[in-house]
Amino acid sequence: MRKLGGIRLSHHKGSENCKSQPLPRPEKVCIPMSMHIGAPCSPIVKKGDLVTVGQKIGDTDAFMSAPIHSSVSGKVTAISDYRMSNGRTCKLVEIQTDEEQAVCPDVQPPAVHDKDSFLSAIRESGLTGMGGASFPAHVKLAPRQKVDTLCINGAECEPYITSDYRQMAEAPDEVIDGALQVMKWLDLPRCVIGIESNKPEAIRILTERAAAHPEITVVSLPCTYPQGAEKVLIYNTLGRIVMEGQLPADQGVIVMNVSSVAFVSRYLKTGMPMVTRMVTVDGDVIGNRCNVVVPVGTPVKNVLEFAQCDLEKAKKILYGGPMMGVSVQDINDPVLKANNAILAFSEAFAKKHSPKATACIHCGRCISACPLNLMPPDISRAYARKDTAALEKLKVTLCMNCGCCTYVCPAKRPVAEINQFAKALAMSAAKK
Ligand code: SF4
Ligand code: SF4
Repeated sequence: MRKLGGIRLSHHKGSENCKSQPLPRPEKVCIPMSMHIGAPCSPIVKKGDLVTVGQKIGDTDAFMSAPIHSSVSGKVTAISDYRMSNGRTCKLVEIQTDEEQAVCPDVQPPAVHDKDSFLSAIRESGLTGMGGASFPAHVKLAPRQKVDTLCINGAECEPYITSDYRQMAEAPDEVIDGALQVMKWLDLPRCVIGIESNKPEAIRILTERAAAHPEITVVSLPCTYPQGAEKVLIYNTLGRIVMEGQLPADQGVIVMNVSSVAFVSRYLKTGMPMVTRMVTVDGDVIGNRCNVVVPVGTPVKNVLEFAQCDLEKAKKILYGGPMMGVSVQDINDPVLKANNAILAFSEAFAKKHSPKATACIHCGRCISACPLNLMPPDISRAYARKDTAALEKLKVTLCMNCGCCTYVCPAKRPVAEINQFAKALAMSAAKK
C-alpha cells in the first residue's frame, strides 16, 4: 500500500535523549478554566480557599468539556478573567503554592467495572487529548458509530518535539497497559500504534512489549510530515480512508495520542488526574534543551528559566512545534494540558525562517506537498473573491492546517493561513 506523503522536514530532535525531569515547584500557578475544545468550566473554589494536589477546582454540566484540577497545594489568591490565544475569555484560578504539596484525599484509583464506569472515570480524570487538539477524551471514547480499532498516534512528526518519544522510551509499559485498558472497556478487538521511523528505539521497545499481545501491532511510518494527522495516520496504519465530512469513528477507528493512552494507565492505577504535562523545551536561545514534567498552570517563564533560556534574545516563543504551534503572547501565560513543547527562537532565527512573501509564481509545489491533495492556489483565489461555492468544490474544509503548503512555498506565501480563513468562510456559509 502506498503511504500518504507530505513533506520532508529537518527533525531537530536534539532533545530525544534528554530524560524527563520534574520542574522545581513553581511559586504560583495560574490555571485557566478552559484548556479543551468545548464549554469552559466554572471555578468551584473561591479566593482564600486552600487546595491540594489533584483537587477538582473547575467543572461544568456540559457534555463537551472536562473538569480541571489543581496541580499544586496552596492558597487560591485570585480568580480573574483570562484571554486565551483564540481570543475567547475564561476564568483563571491563581494559586500560591505551599511547601507541603499535600495530595487531595479524593485522589484514589477509580472503581471501573464496565464501559460506563470507565468513561465516567476518564471524564473525572480531566483527560483531554495530549497531542495538541485537546479534545475531551471521554467524548472521543464514546462515539455513536461502531468502532473496532484503537489507533495510537506515536508519530510525533513535528520538528523539535520529543515528549511523546520520551514517554515511549521511559515508560512503554504504560502505553501498552493504557491501550489494553481502552480496548478492554470499549470492547475493541484491535490496536495499532503508528510511530515515525526516526524513532527506531521506540519502535523496538514497543514491538517487544506488544509481542505478548497479538491484538496490538506497531507500525513504522515514513518520516514525512504530517504522519500524526488523523486522516494520514489512519490511512497509513490501517489503509482506511476518512472521507470529507467524516470522523475517524465513521471508519471504525478511535485515535488517541500515545501520551494520552499512557495517562489512562497511570490514572486507573493512582487516581491522580491530569495535573502535569511533559514538555519539550528547545530552540536556538535555549541553553539546556530538555524534557520537563510541568505542573499545569506553571508560567511559561519558569519553564524557560529552567531550560536556561536567554530571555533577552527570545523573540519568538511557541506553544507546540514550528509547523502547527501558536505564539506565546506573554511569558507569564500558563502551560496548558495540551502543551507538548515550548520552543524559543531569536529574532535572527525567526527572520531567517519567515522572510517576506512575494506573489505566487504558480510553481505548484504547495499542491504536490498537500497530503490531502488540496489546491491551495485555487483556494486562495476563491477566497479573494469570497466565492464560497468554489471553496466548497475545492473541499477547503478538509484542510487540517498542517502547514506543508506554507513550508514548501518558494514565494514564502502564508498559504496555510489563507486556507484557514477560507475554511472559516466556507464553514460559516455552510451553516447559513
Ligand atoms: S492545504 Fe491544508 S492540508 Fe494541505 S498542506 Fe496546506 S495546510 Fe496542509
Ligand atoms: S507553492 Fe507558493 S508560489 Fe508555488 S503555487 Fe503554491 S502558493 Fe504559489
